[in-house]
Amino acid sequence: MSLLLHSHTVRQLGEIVNGTLMHGYVFHGPAGIGKATAARDLSKRLNCRQGGNDACIICRQIDSGSYPNVIVVRPQDKPSIGIDQIRDLGQMLSLQPYVKSGRRVVIIDEAQAMTREAQNALLKFIEEPPPATLLILISPTLQTLLPTVTSRLGAVYFQPLDETAVAAWLMADRNASSLDSTTAAARSGGRPGLAVTLLGAGGSAVESAVSAAAKLTHGTLFARLVEAARIAAAKEDASAVADALHAAAAENLKNDTMPPAAAGRMMEAAERMKRYLGSNVTPRSALERFVLEVV
Ligand SMILES: [Zn+2]
Repeated sequence: MSLLLHSHTVRQLGEIVNGTLMHGYVFHGPAGIGKATAARDLSKRLNCRQGGNDACIICRQIDSGSYPNVIVVRPQDKPSIGIDQIRDLGQMLSLQPYVKSGRRVVIIDEAQAMTREAQNALLKFIEEPPPATLLILISPTLQTLLPTVTSRLGAVYFQPLDETAVAAWLMADRNASSLDSTTAAARSGGRPGLAVTLLGAGGSAVESAVSAAAKLTHGTLFARLVEAARIAAAKEDASAVADALHAAAAENLKNDTMPPAAAGRMMEAAERMKRYLGSNVTPRSALERFVLEVV
């Protein structure tokens, strides 16, 4: 995904790269907008000897997650990031960097999933940062993190992009048709990552995910739980449904058709659902939790 889409954010990142680098940042904004991509791009610019042009071995290793100086922490077997993961990180950071040149980057993806204990443990590195190490937290909002953590980091906000820009980018970068690009861009609410997912899911799959999302959020509790069971039994793509739920909440927020607090809760519940789906929770249970959380 090209960072060129985010002109405002790119300016901020440029200042980060060219100016005095702080020891840590939190990238916040809705899911699927390009926060993790930006963190990876920044890691490349700080470590690549060719300016982060994607072609070299270092850039490719950063993309595949195998470059030793770019450490990514995210929820593993369970939906949360626990204190044990942060302690492991601490052990790694106490060692000399594997590669002496460039800058070691620690990316905490889905930082909002950190438990309170994990965040407190992380605070130690934020207060006494290891040398030549940049910390990047990725989170949908600042509010889901402890104020003691966010107040010590630079905040970079990623806002939804203009839908026509996303559509144009899908056509140019993904070779998608004009109709598919326009539809996916509009459905994504200006989030390029989500637009790519929707594009990949194909027209009919997008329609069924959007329709399932509507059924999960309307009608009686019983009807919504029945829909959750149906999606799971039909083995429909629950992750695409979670994306559609998130997009619907974002659209409601934008159009003022839902109180901001309720839309925020729905987005967070959809994000939790994605995390559950990536862990050992069954799709049915993840869907049911969503329904119960947004009652
Ligand atoms: Zn490179």
